[in-house]
Amino acid sequence: MSDTNEAARERLYHVNGSLVTPDEATVSVDDRGFRYGDGAFETLRAYGGTIFEAEAHFDRLERTCSTLGLDHGLTREDLSSRITETLAANDLEDAYVRLSITRGVQPGKLTPQPTVEPTVVIWVKPLARGGLEGTPVWEGPATLQTVKTRRIPDAALPAGAKTHNYLNGILARKELHDADEALVRDLDGYVAEGATSNVFFVDDAGLHTPTLEGSVLPGITREAVLELAGEASIPVHEGWYEPEDVRKADEVFLTNTTWELRPVERVDGLECEAPGPVTALLSRLFAERVERQCYRE
Ligand code: PLP
Repeated sequence: MSDTNEAARERLYHVNGSLVTPDEATVSVDDRGFRYGDGAFETLRAYGGTIFEAEAHFDRLERTCSTLGLDHGLTREDLSSRITETLAANDLEDAYVRLSITRGVQPGKLTPQPTVEPTVVIWVKPLARGGLEGTPVWEGPATLQTVKTRRIPDAALPAGAKTHNYLNGILARKELHDADEALVRDLDGYVAEGATSNVFFVDDAGLHTPTLEGSVLPGITREAVLELAGEASIPVHEGWYEPEDVRKADEVFLTNTTWELRPVERVDGLECEAPGPVTALLSRLFAERVERQCYRE
């Protein structure tokens, strides 16, 4: 699809079972997702019309909904076919997909009632493939800045749940001066993650990333990268790290569904190789995984 066609075309979203234009799409002011952030979401990628790591995303969505006690009553097949329908209606194969499920309309009470009618929204936009044959969404390596805002501890809001409440990340990003991503620590000072990404670094001992025992969202891209590193016999360490460990690393990179792997060229003003050899190797292996899973099936 050309850019001109794309600009002229009106996008269609899937809202509570129907395909609607952005103007027709309505969510009630009494929706708990709007009022309280009481909802779960997933950001997914479609490559060549196939959802990458679909089962891992649906597993995480299920875990988030279970943490929230949000029983939306839809099967994976229902959700997948709504996504496929939305992609087809927008004539999209390579796309960013956001699936949001809130507890729906329950006026007036903070205490959640059983979810009778959840609000289910699928939002898509074109996103060209990165990797082997494409160009990544980011324009260049990222810069990272350690911020004062700390990651909400699991005892307050489990980091493993991908909920509509993103204020923690928003406040972290608000602190940035001339940097692309926040390096967010937990209350004890250990590196947790970025505002919307997982953090990796490379030193003489191999590849490191903060452990999921900390306040870290279990990124789907993180998991794929760890698997790929294992297969490539790169020593992998999931541990507890301080910002200093990241600052003095040889290579640093960030992962998320949209960025895939994004090299980091500066951490708190200190330079690192971007991309270094391990980041470049893992980026290639990741692109091959996308190719295998989505384009060759
Ligand atoms: N950590 C946070 C806080 C995020 O919001 C995200 C994604 O948005 C990630 C990590 C990366 O997760 P994924 O690789 O599943 O996109």
